[in-house]
Amino acid sequence: MLLDAAGAPLHAVELERPRPAPGQVLLRVRICGVCRTDVHVADSELPRPKLPLVLGHQIVGETEDGRRLGVPWLGWTCGECRYCTSGRENLCDRARFTGYDLDGGYAEWAVADERYCLPLPDDLDDLEAAPLLCAGLIGYRSLRAAGDPGRLGLYGFGAAAHIVAQVALAEGRRVFAVTRAHDADAQAFARSLGAEWAGGGRPPEELDAAIIFAPAGELVPAALAAVAKGGTVVCAGIHMSDIPSFPYELLWGERVLRSVANLTRRDGEEFLALAPRIPVRTQVEPFPLDRANEALAKLRAGDVRGALAVVP
Ligand SMILES: [Zn+2]
Ligand SMILES: [Zn+2]
Repeated sequence: MLLDAAGAPLHAVELERPRPAPGQVLLRVRICGVCRTDVHVADSELPRPKLPLVLGHQIVGETEDGRRLGVPWLGWTCGECRYCTSGRENLCDRARFTGYDLDGGYAEWAVADERYCLPLPDDLDDLEAAPLLCAGLIGYRSLRAAGDPGRLGLYGFGAAAHIVAQVALAEGRRVFAVTRAHDADAQAFARSLGAEWAGGGRPPEELDAAIIFAPAGELVPAALAAVAKGGTVVCAGIHMSDIPSFPYELLWGERVLRSVANLTRRDGEEFLALAPRIPVRTQVEPFPLDRANEALAKLRAGDVRGALAVVP
């Protein structure tokens, strides 16, 4: 399913099977998770994707010799810049991203640099594993960036939040889910996963940290107002609408506002080792590959419980 121009729907085309370059593996795509970032790319909210482009950066694929590998967003880094050499390869200036700079997994076949592929634990089936590769990983990195919060607020309860809530609860944290005020479905979903409160507006007590998954800038001052002194607000999305100005008082008291960008391979290894131990259970709705546009439309409308994936 090819994106020819930003803003245009994907369309089915017959491409030649990609040939792996040295260091790459050829993967038969078993399933590919659908991420909000795919919507941002398709809707041209992110600058300069490769075009034409095969979207998709949560690939569960199988190598020719039968190994099951996950392909995440981080597809290649230079290995020599100041970021790469200091454990921050996620910030590499020359990084290439799967389904953005490199063709991704909305396809029957994909190639990927083997050094950036993640071996998948056997106890997760393909459908369960797919959303771990971005939603899960970004949620995990965001939770680590949030410090050690006893009371954690999750703003936007989609694919990432439904995974990180399980990790946070297993670590003994209390989870508060902030959704759109009238989204009773998302609130019920959050409660069913163990959130002790779910609703619109401000949680009933102070938070120690908040993670914002929804791409809405107005949530930044709202979350800062909800966290206690010394608390951290983490913006986890790759795209967000402009943040409205707010009084310094909201940041005062050693509150920290930060973003989380992409992932490192180390995040991937740590999280994929942790997920089966919790165990994280993902809720994923599969779409046939040729109906990828419907999956994107569903995500765009915010009409999703858990995560989505496409299956060739
Ligand atoms: Zn680099
Ligand atoms: Zn993603």
